[in-house]
Amino acid sequence: IPKAKGYINASLIDGSKDPTWKRSDFPWSAELMAHNRTYFGYSSFRTDQEEIMNATLSNKDVFALMPTGGGKSLCYMLPSLCSAGLTVVISPLVALIQDQIAQLRVANIECGALGSTTDDFERRRILSCLRQSPPGIRLLYVTPEKIANSAFLLSVLDDLNSSNFLARFVIDEAHCVSQWGHDFRKDYKELRVFKMRYPQVPCLVLTATATQRVQEDIVQQLQIKSCVQFKSSFNRKNLRYEVRKKTKSCIEEIRNLIMESCVDRFGNVQTGIIYCFSKFDCEKVSAELNKKFADYRCGKCFACQRNLNRRCQNFRRVVVDFYHAGLEAEQRELVQQKWSNDEVHILCATVAFGMGINKPDVRFVIHYSLSKSLEGYHQEAGRAGRDLKTAICVLFYRFSDYQKLKRLLEESAKEHNAPRSQLENNLESLNGMVSYCENAIECRRSLLLRHFGETFNKGLCKGTCDNCRNNQKSGKTYVTKDVTQDVLNVIAIVRETGQTHSLTHIVDVFRGSKCAKVMRLRHNGVSAFGTGSKWLKTEASRLVQKLVIDGILTEKTQKADNLYQTVTTLLRVCPKAERDLKQGRRKVTLEVIEKAAPAPRQKATLKAKKVPVTTIEDWPCEASQEQRKDLDCTREIER
Ligand code: ADP
Ligand code: MG
Ligand code: ZN
Repeated sequence: IPKAKGYINASLIDGSKDPTWKRSDFPWSAELMAHNRTYFGYSSFRTDQEEIMNATLSNKDVFALMPTGGGKSLCYMLPSLCSAGLTVVISPLVALIQDQIAQLRVANIECGALGSTTDDFERRRILSCLRQSPPGIRLLYVTPEKIANSAFLLSVLDDLNSSNFLARFVIDEAHCVSQWGHDFRKDYKELRVFKMRYPQVPCLVLTATATQRVQEDIVQQLQIKSCVQFKSSFNRKNLRYEVRKKTKSCIEEIRNLIMESCVDRFGNVQTGIIYCFSKFDCEKVSAELNKKFADYRCGKCFACQRNLNRRCQNFRRVVVDFYHAGLEAEQRELVQQKWSNDEVHILCATVAFGMGINKPDVRFVIHYSLSKSLEGYHQEAGRAGRDLKTAICVLFYRFSDYQKLKRLLEESAKEHNAPRSQLENNLESLNGMVSYCENAIECRRSLLLRHFGETFNKGLCKGTCDNCRNNQKSGKTYVTKDVTQDVLNVIAIVRETGQTHSLTHIVDVFRGSKCAKVMRLRHNGVSAFGTGSKWLKTEASRLVQKLVIDGILTEKTQKADNLYQTVTTLLRVCPKAERDLKQGRRKVTLEVIEKAAPAPRQKATLKAKKVPVTTIEDWPCEASQEQRKDLDCTREIER
């Protein structure tokens, strides 16, 4: 990065290490508590909220990382009531701003918004408020392009600043600042003007999705010299995570899943979302589910027991609808409204249904297709269970969905002439998502949280994800093993067989299979033939798949020159990765199952000591036994 004049190196300081921020004897502490109750009706603070407010009210620059629904807004709304001046809030979308303004109006807090849609009357009202001293509004919401393009607005801020009435800048959804984030916006970069022009006015930077790299980039871009950082855990304890294999009976499974675990004690289906990949899928899944729910029978009532040709006496109508960007704005508004009011129970939606949903009692988020990144998945699944009660997140996965998504990303990059690095970024994110789905061993929480730079103690999952639950049942544990030597053997096989074979074939040679094709091609002459004889077939496939996902092996598709033009995918070696591995600059590790040590023999009269198993009442484990067995270890090779 070129160093401009006056350019500083930004840094983040861990705020959780400083006990100062936990104190509640600041001059504003009592006031914060009182305002929290009178303006918002809350009796306490959530994790990190008070610490963040203490730091920002101490005029520190603060970086707050909190999962969606964690309560970031309160962290600036309350302090705005304890400061004499104006709080300027930057938010990327007019819709989000309107939502916040509505909340503030209910709480009776003076505020205003300036954006492209603000009418003249409102603009004049706001400007005259800003000219009063102290200013007549507490909070001013602005879209970033307004800051970037309005010298006039900056001159108003100058005036406020010189009379000491500029309390703080809040940058909401700050991941938009960084190119590495998943929603980069050019105008957000211009926000560095705050620190350049008003160095002593504190900034409060808020975001829900940011990896370490993105966090550092954000403060660097904004030129904030040193930021006190608060990082809440991204672990959502009340969510149950599961990945299932997507088969033809997926819709039926979804119906059963909902009937088993998302029905309240009055027999009503509770609200949830089914994320679909395309508009077409939304409508298809919605129609099919509607059919599936039409013949609902409780099995208990008079009509059901006698098998009478009458409607079940406990019949409850389940309403399924869909939502995607192809609908008219009015229609979308209507559907969202109905869903929020529980008039629609199940909403089949694309990711267009997202930002600004604030329904607390979403009981399930089902993914009919995988997300584009783990960050996206965490956010989408995170819309469940905001009320902190148990909710389920099930993702239906099949390898061909991944291939479809990958192809689409490539096509769209070509179409928009996007830079190579952007496509690579997107593919890397997608690969992270696939690794998560393919992993049938490690704790899902560990996998998700690792992505956010958080180490999670898998012992705390207690069987609330499918992998932990399965391991618990079978008494298995896993260890992370260095498999670099095995990888070098696989590479040798790919090279020596001419880089013209499929994944299945390479796995066969690695394991020393005596199958017809291996024998016919005389691959038993290959130097590394059979070096993987100890590997289970499923595990060996998982290893080779991992190499593809990690870019150590690359795939090339080829159309066979036969009548059917069958498409085959051939594996090749990435020379750079090979060099790095051979020279010890790179290692490959894999989580492998380690059989629990056999229980010590005990006298027949004594019962074997039982491993404590947490049972979760509303967790549908029995129904999906079969599918889970299928999913175990690997997908079927679909090529
Ligand atoms: P986000 O971090 O996603 O911006 P919001 O600020 O929109 O989250 O808050 C999410 C929800 O949590 C809102 O409905 C809000 O009213 C609620 N909330 C925030 N703080 C508290 C609190 N201290 N006590 C109770 N509810 C709270
Ligand atoms: Mg928010
Ligand atoms: Zn787990």
